[in-house]
Amino acid sequence: MTLNEEMNIEHFFGPHGKLAARLPHFEFRREQVAMAKRIERTLATEGHLLVEAGTGTGKTLAYLVPLADWVLDGDRRAIVSTFTKALQSQLIDKDLPQLVDRLDIPIRYALCLGAANYLCTRRFRQFLHRGSKAIPASSDLISAIVEWEARTRRGLRSELALAEENRIWNEISRSPDACLGYRCPEAHNCYYRHARQEQEDAHILVVNHHLFFANLASGGNVLPPFNAVVFDEAHNLEDVASDHFGYHLSNRQIEHLLNSVHNPRTRSGIVGLPDLFEPEAVRQIRARVREARAASHRFFGEILMTWGEGPSAVRIRETGALGGGLQEPLTKLASALTEASLSIEDEMERIEVEGLAARANAAAVSIASFLELHLEGHVHWISIGEGRDDQEVALHAAPVEVASHLRREVFEPIHPVAMTSATLTVDSRFDYLRYRLGFDDADELLLPSPFDTENNVLLYLPPCAPDPRREPNAFVDSVALETKLLLDASRGRAFVLFTSYEMMRRVSGLVNSLGSKHTLLQQGELPREQLLDRFRQDLHSTLFGVHSFWQGVDVPGEALQCVIIVKLPFDVPTDPVTEARMEALADAGFDPFSSYLLPGAIMMLRQGVGRLIRTMEDRGVIAILDPRVKTMSYGRYFLNSLPPCPVTESRDDIDRFFMQIPIAD
Ligand code: SF4
Repeated sequence: MTLNEEMNIEHFFGPHGKLAARLPHFEFRREQVAMAKRIERTLATEGHLLVEAGTGTGKTLAYLVPLADWVLDGDRRAIVSTFTKALQSQLIDKDLPQLVDRLDIPIRYALCLGAANYLCTRRFRQFLHRGSKAIPASSDLISAIVEWEARTRRGLRSELALAEENRIWNEISRSPDACLGYRCPEAHNCYYRHARQEQEDAHILVVNHHLFFANLASGGNVLPPFNAVVFDEAHNLEDVASDHFGYHLSNRQIEHLLNSVHNPRTRSGIVGLPDLFEPEAVRQIRARVREARAASHRFFGEILMTWGEGPSAVRIRETGALGGGLQEPLTKLASALTEASLSIEDEMERIEVEGLAARANAAAVSIASFLELHLEGHVHWISIGEGRDDQEVALHAAPVEVASHLRREVFEPIHPVAMTSATLTVDSRFDYLRYRLGFDDADELLLPSPFDTENNVLLYLPPCAPDPRREPNAFVDSVALETKLLLDASRGRAFVLFTSYEMMRRVSGLVNSLGSKHTLLQQGELPREQLLDRFRQDLHSTLFGVHSFWQGVDVPGEALQCVIIVKLPFDVPTDPVTEARMEALADAGFDPFSSYLLPGAIMMLRQGVGRLIRTMEDRGVIAILDPRVKTMSYGRYFLNSLPPCPVTESRDDIDRFFMQIPIAD
């Protein structure tokens, strides 16, 4: 099937077209037709396109249908890249199956995940063979993995309920350094190779932005070749690209590497494997590990001594700010491993050892590069995690601007490329994103949400509140009181969105002490998806969240009827990356506030507010508790960016609004 045989996009998406006939609950949307037509044209002309499609437009099908038609028509392959797992799951579990099963579009698609998500059958067999001498571990967990491995079809980590950092998984998952590829005796049982085969056979690959850039960094070795890309949730692209065009290295990564070679505490590590190395090589490697571990403790310990009491991120502007002494022991360890590997006959074991040597070398190179502030046009900084013991200390480098990298590595070589999201514009213009990403030649299309926000949304701005910069404590007190009263009116059912964990904890404590009757869920108490499930199930709960809850969260219906924005979401100007970007803009003659901080905050506010209305039937209140939205001249830009709706300063109006919404108790 192609769309040509079925007439055209207009008909396909129209009130009497195939979507209307085949999809339950389908509602005709002019915006969806407009988007699908522009995507179709962009694909046909191999162009570049930016589409802001407001919530409810039906943007996913608006790009998937023409994309499917295009790849089928020319035997091509396309990538759909998302930022959140939620959208990836929606594409793989709902939208793409719908194309095949309900719309008879014979498309083949595959979910692509990073290599470390797959069990490596060879390493797992080796792990079981080595037994507990090499890697002591909970036997219950190993039994569970053995039992799971016997029935899993995909060998994906997500099928196992493992803690985020799992030592065993690190030893048994696919690692590019340790993969034997076609020479592997387990190649026929290899989950990763099966997944790669599915990807080779697929017309559409669903990836996340991180994997897209990892593929770019690898020279195209991670994903099969492709002809087009659609970036959904494209508003996050700059930050993800920035991560990937830079690097980071932490004390935990070094510790993990050293433990993989030799962990004297647990008597584990590759050096303990029976008969793998000559006794002299074992002695040498253990000595090199001891030196590297001591050097690592000194190196990161000095950073903690110098900056441990200060902010969590410190920009390093000059060489000589950090002591050296770690790169040489790591290089020596790499040499000892490489030399010892030469006498290992078993190819699989040799590759494991070579992989560890490569990691030690790469760590030494990163440290040397950091100490010299070697990467031009990059910002270098150290970050210090929370906690007393085992604090994570990391070195980071990231490009100050990603536009030139993206131009060179994505937009010039790849045609067509489409970017979409519910929030790509500021003041109805794409200039900010276009400039930040270097997507200079892209056509643009701006489609409003079809939802009736004039009648279904009320914006509440408290009549007076302390300024968060001048009276921070009074501001927190006023936020807590306003939040408590709003939650009473909405009977829970609210997201309270913060810009910092510290403020979230303070306000949450105060709201509790004011006698809130509703379940208060707080980010960090449970994994994100579990927290959201509890929020959806408990219709009187409230979720306090930071960062990741501002976007990519879909809670339609009565579980969410109020979104409270505590503070305008400006990036912190002293954050190293933000500061460096602002300096670069000032050097180029721009005003950093109006050209960077303000538009970034407006996009984030629009994301946060966008959590509220997810369907035609949804109704609710947006409350912005930061008085600057009224008192500062820039406040009007925030207000202008919100969906059209009535505004009130009266809590009585809020009470009346909620009383009109029929809700189940
Ligand atoms: S081919 Fe690579 S990932 Fe697959 S089982 Fe072998 S070593 Fe592991």
